[in-house]
Amino acid sequence: MTLTSAGSLTGQSFQAFLEELHRKYQPLTDGAIANYIPELAKADPDCFGICVVTKDGHVYEVGNTQTLFTIQSISKVFVYGMALQDHGRDYLLTRVGVEPTGDAFNAIILDEQSKRPYNPMVNAGAIAVTSLIKGTGPTERLNRMLDMFRDFIGHDIFVDVSVFMSERTTGHRNRAMAHLMRNFGMIDDRIDEALDLYFQQCSVTVDCRDLAVMAATIANHGINPITHTQALDSGYIRDLLSVMYTCGMYNFAGQWSHEVGLPAKSGVSGGIMVVVPNQFGLAVFSPPLDARGNSVRGIEVCKEISNHYGLHLFDSSMNCTRFVQQLGTKPHGIDGNSNGDGKGIGTLSD
Ligand code: GLU
Repeated sequence: MTLTSAGSLTGQSFQAFLEELHRKYQPLTDGAIANYIPELAKADPDCFGICVVTKDGHVYEVGNTQTLFTIQSISKVFVYGMALQDHGRDYLLTRVGVEPTGDAFNAIILDEQSKRPYNPMVNAGAIAVTSLIKGTGPTERLNRMLDMFRDFIGHDIFVDVSVFMSERTTGHRNRAMAHLMRNFGMIDDRIDEALDLYFQQCSVTVDCRDLAVMAATIANHGINPITHTQALDSGYIRDLLSVMYTCGMYNFAGQWSHEVGLPAKSGVSGGIMVVVPNQFGLAVFSPPLDARGNSVRGIEVCKEISNHYGLHLFDSSMNCTRFVQQLGTKPHGIDGNSNGDGKGIGTLSD
């Protein structure tokens, strides 16, 4: 099949492009499933879904887009947004920085001078951010967080208790980080409670389509394009996108920025969420990870989509502000005519 050129982008050609990518990368079996959280090791290595949701709510999907998995580190983006709303940008900056580390996501390091964790996308920074979520007690804090996720996703969600317990009983590195931050006064005494909330946020279940809706909500200035709920104050979207761009892809973030050029966040369960600001959200789910913790198929798919459509933020080869207008030729609502068989929507006829 000949892939569609960017110049003649329609809903049908874009759907066909995604289907071609799915066929091309399904046989790629490189990578390994994360097993340091024992429950995650049960994931199916063949599971593979790609979904795009535009800022006006059109959905394009192929493969296993409705298989549930735990959101893991991708949650960090949204909880950071919540903490920004709770405390404001200036205060947040006193608790967690915005510098990439070049180290692994679970490195036990703090900025030597300020004692802050480096950024909210690594575990130490995320635990510090989670410890700041407002509420009168653990239940209220958890409920507020789940409400926030519901606003981004657009439907009810739950915490996978098996993954939560698996992480809670094995998360010794995260406990070490929390205690180190307590030592320097960067988090308060409620260490175990903050860790529980952090493990719970990582154990929120989503599917690939949910992730794409969440990304599209960020692309759409904080407004969920399906439900039209304002999930986050639009003034904080730039904070989320900035840390995603510089720190979102583990210690592949620099190369990712160079090659793909879009804000993104990856998680150890195999999800990647990408935002094309003001245009659309993209999500890929495929559990086998490379050595840095990014989904192997996910990275390839994102590279191809970005390159093919000229979406790199600094690429002037295509007027990408017209992308969504071009895509909007055949709307497919989230509750629309998905055949639900994991093989894409299959109903575009133009
Ligand atoms: N819950 C995982 C951890 O704390 C998240 C890691 C990730 O997805 O990067 O290790």
